[in-house]
Amino acid sequence: QLDPSVQVSLKEKLKDIFGFSQFRGDQEAIIHNILAGINSFVIMPTGAGKSLCYQLPAISSEGTAIVISPLIALMKNQVDQMNAFGINAQFLNSTLTKAEMSKVKKDTLNGTLKLLYIAPESLTKEENLDFLKKANISFVAIDEAHCISEWGHDFRPEYRKIRGIIDNIGNLPVIALTATATPKVQLDIQKNLQMEDAHIYKTSFNRKNLYYEIRPKADAKKQLIRYIKNNKGKSGIVYCLSRKMVEEIAELLNVNDIKALPYHAGLDSQTRMHNQDAFLNEDVDVVVATIAFGMGIDKPDVRFVIHYDAPKSLEGYYQETGRAGRDGLEGNCLMFYSIDDIVKLEKFNKDKSVTERDNARHLLMEMVSYANLGVCRRRQLLSYFGEYQDKDCGFCDNCMKPTEKFKAQDEIVLALQA
Ligand code: ADP
Ligand code: MG
Repeated sequence: QLDPSVQVSLKEKLKDIFGFSQFRGDQEAIIHNILAGINSFVIMPTGAGKSLCYQLPAISSEGTAIVISPLIALMKNQVDQMNAFGINAQFLNSTLTKAEMSKVKKDTLNGTLKLLYIAPESLTKEENLDFLKKANISFVAIDEAHCISEWGHDFRPEYRKIRGIIDNIGNLPVIALTATATPKVQLDIQKNLQMEDAHIYKTSFNRKNLYYEIRPKADAKKQLIRYIKNNKGKSGIVYCLSRKMVEEIAELLNVNDIKALPYHAGLDSQTRMHNQDAFLNEDVDVVVATIAFGMGIDKPDVRFVIHYDAPKSLEGYYQETGRAGRDGLEGNCLMFYSIDDIVKLEKFNKDKSVTERDNARHLLMEMVSYANLGVCRRRQLLSYFGEYQDKDCGFCDNCMKPTEKFKAQDEIVLALQA
């Protein structure tokens, strides 16, 4: 049961520090759960507001909360934001100078640091572990927890050592958070973290305003140009698999009088920043990108997301299409699909370990059946995330213009590559 005085003080902090007048969804319940020392497992789509679920209890607790995060960019983003709010948050990683490092340690040990961001690779280092054992740690948050699961789409082996480390530091409540939890990934995370007892908070992954459509890839360039011209003046993202394809498609759009810029990890950071800003400021309508584009980008009025090439997994597809229509208005998700692309993706995996290859292949197979099946796209997508709908959505290509049936030969092509 929620203690009314705590409830009031949390609401005040939400307003005073973050500037929000209300909690979203389960945020408040999750925060109370954490403050009560109960393990929590939070599964919510991207943009739902998961960070607040550990930031606010960290601020409200004595001592320091450890936040385990996979990317320096993500850590830096949050640290900057917290500091701008006047909260002492810092990250600990190998980019720090000696002086910065000792400040982090000092602030942790004297209890003034509220949030300590760290990647699992740094957490497992002996010298870091030694000082954390001496510190007063309030709880541990594990962000992007799907990285723990070898069934997830961006598995990081060091993530699997987290439980041991936490036990070493002390008896601490844990909150794990992810936007990608198929039932399989979810179980894997819980088992690995020994959090079978955790309170689970899962919200629906249904994005009702998104229209899902898949077209065969024949003639894709012509179709792409026509599609974008029919959506003139609207913001959109076109995802391609390779840097080369990104450049080619951006060029193609430009010569067809569509204002587009490329974005991929091969461009220098200045160009990337410039192109991203041009998209956010609507100097261009379209950004053509690899999956390097999108994380942390919050443009609410993206009207279409096109997969020129098939993504590696349905998780990826869901994340990327999820960038359309974040304001709840129109959002069109179009994918051009060809089994040739799947075969190409499969070839990228040939140097991986057997486990990784099997996993990648399993994820691809799910993609193949999603693309091929003639049944409601939304039902398929949601059932992949463990949500069952008893009715067709009436708002996807298969519902609105049912055509072809299951193409078994694609699965055969893929099987023959094995
Ligand atoms: P997630 O990690 O679930 O993808 P974030 O934590 O990055 O989401 O939050 C997404 C956005 O929602 C951020 O801009 C954040 O400031 C905003 N947000 C979070 N909680 C609230 C709230 N209670 N009211 C309004 N905006 C919120
Ligand atoms: Mg997040």
